[in-house]
Amino acid sequence: MSKFQPLTFYDRNGGAGRGAGKPSYELMPFRFTELDPQRFVLSNQAGEYLVLPKKDLYDFAEHRLDATTEAYLDLRSHQFLIDAHTNVAKELLAIKVRTRYERVANFTGLHIFVVTLRCEHSCPYCQVSRQSEDSSAFDMTSEQADAAIDLALRSPSKAIKIEFQGGEPLLNFPLIRYIVAETKRKAQGSRELGFVIATNLAIVTDEVLEFCREEGVCISTSLDGPQDLHNKNRPRTGRDSYQRAISGIKRARDAIGKENVSALMTTTEASLGHVKEIIDEYLALDFKGIFLRPLSPYGFAIKTKSYRAYSVDRWLEFYKEGLDYVIELNRKGIAFREFYASMVLKKMLTFEDPGYVDLMSPAGVALGAIVYNYDGAVFASDEARMLAEMGDDKFRLGHVLENTYEEIFLNETLLEALEASFSYSVPMCTDCAFEPYCGADPVQHWGLQKDFVGRKTESEFCARNMAIFKHLIKLMESDAGIKRLFTTWAQ
Ligand code: SF4
Repeated sequence: MSKFQPLTFYDRNGGAGRGAGKPSYELMPFRFTELDPQRFVLSNQAGEYLVLPKKDLYDFAEHRLDATTEAYLDLRSHQFLIDAHTNVAKELLAIKVRTRYERVANFTGLHIFVVTLRCEHSCPYCQVSRQSEDSSAFDMTSEQADAAIDLALRSPSKAIKIEFQGGEPLLNFPLIRYIVAETKRKAQGSRELGFVIATNLAIVTDEVLEFCREEGVCISTSLDGPQDLHNKNRPRTGRDSYQRAISGIKRARDAIGKENVSALMTTTEASLGHVKEIIDEYLALDFKGIFLRPLSPYGFAIKTKSYRAYSVDRWLEFYKEGLDYVIELNRKGIAFREFYASMVLKKMLTFEDPGYVDLMSPAGVALGAIVYNYDGAVFASDEARMLAEMGDDKFRLGHVLENTYEEIFLNETLLEALEASFSYSVPMCTDCAFEPYCGADPVQHWGLQKDFVGRKTESEFCARNMAIFKHLIKLMESDAGIKRLFTTWAQ
């Protein structure tokens, strides 16, 4: 049996080759993937899924499924089949599909300004090549910032978020002040503007926090876990990165409110085996969740060989243990969530798109986020500029002072990457039941395989995501309490 069932138009009244009394229905397009030897996951174009025993799937595909069974009723109510009782199914499915792709029309909402490449840390897995703190040759200029603001405000998106990154962006704080003021002045209230500084907080001052409070700027910081682990991952003179991060988080919360300060962790080899302690650290600081992130294959992560320091399987073991622990905490009445699972669940259980760049198809490069680098170069994503730091500028789309908006966003490489990586038509993805939840990561696949699409059988992106999708569905199928919990995460 082919993995992809072609749309079959069938006589709804039991004729055309079917004997009287046999069930009669049309199949709507769907895909299926084995969940375990007994069960399959089916998904439709709108991203709704069902889990069916193998026999029910075969009966369904062969038009033999009894119309009185629970499986039949589920398939009908989720628009996997049409029969005489469901004359609005196609319209309903079309509305759901339109809702799912609505974000594409919004175009680029996230604009990343790398205001400096300088940093006072020297983290072994850092994804950009940090430069010494005092070399201002690695700072963005106000002229470049002006041009980048103009490009950002050309985006049709009603909501524009500007994120300041580095290096350590606070080393060029005067430019952050300038960009916030100029963006507000130029937008003249026509957009919903949001600003975030991604900082390690080591050099945060009262002046910075006062500015964030007055201008409505959020802070996103890094916290890899307990003191020993964090300081091992984030070496700096004085070995006090953890202390500075903790005190910075407290001061920032006092200044701008707890809800405006978030933290991100990165999993290094030293993190493996310590997921509970890492989560406990986030709980102790009263964060409401954690994003268990693997290393990206860029920059110093590869240069120092730390990327290859653990396999996909070891990371999955870490991730699943962490997820189990988070579920256990919720069972004890502690509301806490894992953010990657929450984003995937939003795609599985609702028709909304969380807008996470790595889980978009067409790919999120330039459509979801774009990067204005410290030297004025424009990159299709944060990973694309990291790739360029390693010597491959394939995804350099232009320069803020040399190219127009049209030249940048209609760049040939970008269009080619977007078209080639649309997972709906990519080999293997086109047959995969998880395609509606997955993404296309042309930058990572180009970086590792020199191909926008990538060979999925060798792709770590595919292996990691496929395992997570299956794991989340198995958990929901095995326990109604987990399904209820995951539904609240999705919403
Ligand atoms: S990348 Fe892998 S998991 Fe994702 S849709 Fe393609 S085949 Fe499925």
